[in-house]
Amino acid sequence: MQLICGIILAIIISYLAYRAHSLNKSGALTATLIGTVIFGIGGWQWAILLLTFFITSSALSRAFRNRKQALREKYSKGHERDAGQVLGNGAMAALFAGFHAFYPESMIPWIGFAASLAAVNADTWATELGVLNPTPPHLITDLRKRVEKGTSGGISLWGTGASLLGSSVIALLAVLLSPTGTLTTAHWLLITFAGLAGSLFDSFLGATVQAMYYCPTDKKETEKHPLHTCGTQTVHLRGWKWLNNDWVNFACGAFGVAVALAIGF
Ligand SMILES: [Zn+2]
Repeated sequence: MQLICGIILAIIISYLAYRAHSLNKSGALTATLIGTVIFGIGGWQWAILLLTFFITSSALSRAFRNRKQALREKYSKGHERDAGQVLGNGAMAALFAGFHAFYPESMIPWIGFAASLAAVNADTWATELGVLNPTPPHLITDLRKRVEKGTSGGISLWGTGASLLGSSVIALLAVLLSPTGTLTTAHWLLITFAGLAGSLFDSFLGATVQAMYYCPTDKKETEKHPLHTCGTQTVHLRGWKWLNNDWVNFACGAFGVAVALAIGF
């Protein structure tokens, strides 16, 4: 019964997100799959956590659009999320919902699930709200150095604050809605910290090994490949070519999980 409700809910939400241009076709199909696993196996508590991430991220991508317009050429993708982005942000969470089916009494799957969502939520909030910072961000690997807004690896006070807030919201819901009912304030702090750590790890990868390209026409660094927003072919500048933004998002969630489980257990 729960599985059937899960499938129906996943289809409805993915379809609405597709109609609202928050997801493209491949993104909507992948979201249906991930939503089915999380809603169908996990249940309503799991659904609320996933939807909190999904709805706030989609809403924040739309907010302050004017301020972000100028930065669009830097990011690899627009606000319409595709399969790669959905998997990058949600595969880890779906994996832990799957573990819950095998270990229904354990609270580890729930904490892993919450930590992965706390991390990707922290990262998304930081990206979307960090642009409001009045001054250019600092490079995470060399804090004395300032980089252009929107540069991967740049961190700011606003961005880090948004990250902490994004992580703590998911952590709070994780404690309040815990299926085992045994989570405490210490778990709230643990998941918040894990989420923040995941998003900082995301920035660290962005500053070091994430694939970066260069547009010869605009003379600018970008994540976009093979074509820049202007239509010019971008050239590889630095980083591992396979490590695109989707894998960095996946690593962000995985790092959050690793921190939560390493400290918590
Ligand atoms: Zn260009």
